[in-house]
Amino acid sequence: MTTIAFIGLGNMGGPMAANLVKAGRTVRVFDLNPQAVAELTEQGAIAASSGCGVVAGADVVITMLPAGKHVRQLYLGDDGFINKVAADTLLIDCSTIDADSATTVANAAAAKGLEFVDAPVSGGTAGAAAGTLTFICGGTDAGFAAAKPVLEQMGANIFHAGGHGAGQVAKICNNMLLSVLMVGTSEALQLGRDHGLDAGVLSEIMKVSSGGNWTLEKYNPCPGVMPQTPASNDYQGGFMVDLMAKDLGLAMMAAAQSNSSTPLGALTTALYRQHARQGHGKLDFSSIFQQFQQQQER
Ligand code: NAD
Repeated sequence: MTTIAFIGLGNMGGPMAANLVKAGRTVRVFDLNPQAVAELTEQGAIAASSGCGVVAGADVVITMLPAGKHVRQLYLGDDGFINKVAADTLLIDCSTIDADSATTVANAAAAKGLEFVDAPVSGGTAGAAAGTLTFICGGTDAGFAAAKPVLEQMGANIFHAGGHGAGQVAKICNNMLLSVLMVGTSEALQLGRDHGLDAGVLSEIMKVSSGGNWTLEKYNPCPGVMPQTPASNDYQGGFMVDLMAKDLGLAMMAAAQSNSSTPLGALTTALYRQHARQGHGKLDFSSIFQQFQQQQER
């Protein structure tokens, strides 16, 4: 039976690893946070005491880490996974990181005869829990074909965007658009509220009108409109402002590399950085809504 090593059991990695356990896989887990490991072992995963220990003997390694520096640190170097895994181990990184880091790790893996797939996800924590994530993969045809059956146990849509790093490029394009939609939805909802409209009624109207978008359907930023969203839970859980600011930084870096024009992306980058600098970095990214509220409403 396939043994999967899963490293990074945070808001996303935790429920993703749990779905692999539910699907009947043998899952060995590691995270720097012992509480996160304990929650997974209660669900049937096997704990490992170190990152190196968890990958020994695994058929597939999956990482779900905050940023590129964490991925490079764990895969590369003398003690890196690339030097610790068996010859035919499949390496899949689901973190959102810069395409250059993904390509660097992929090239180092290829030099050892290993397949590495960048497979960032979309769908948020709700998608991770429900097993309905979208995986956006970059890698060789063989790597993608090997990764697909594993990813299907955590997601509903599995795309092959292109070669190494292509998954990361597609992912940051998506997240730049998401930030624009979240900011636009927030300012429209607050404009309506400032004129006495109920945010729930306005959301229902816009959802089926030409302003309809994913944030209105699944992730309303106004507290109380959707009971299950982070907005209705003091913006706890979900996708942190710090991570959105990181993704927007990656999008701006990519735009600079290709001389692309991204004026709205630049504006939302500034808004998210300002929000983080005001001390809201650990809140869910829909808390950008607070930037448009009156002080006394927060
Ligand atoms: P998180 O901060 O909740 O989880 C990251 C986990 O990695 C933490 O549990 C941390 O302890 C662990 N970690 C960090 N360094 C480690 C190391 N060296 N060894 C072992 N564990 C280590 O973040 P998240 O929200 O789960 O996001 C993870 C990735 O997924 C990020 O790249 C993010 O941009 C991306 N993402 C998040 C969402 C979302 O809605 N939260 C959606 C899509 C993509």
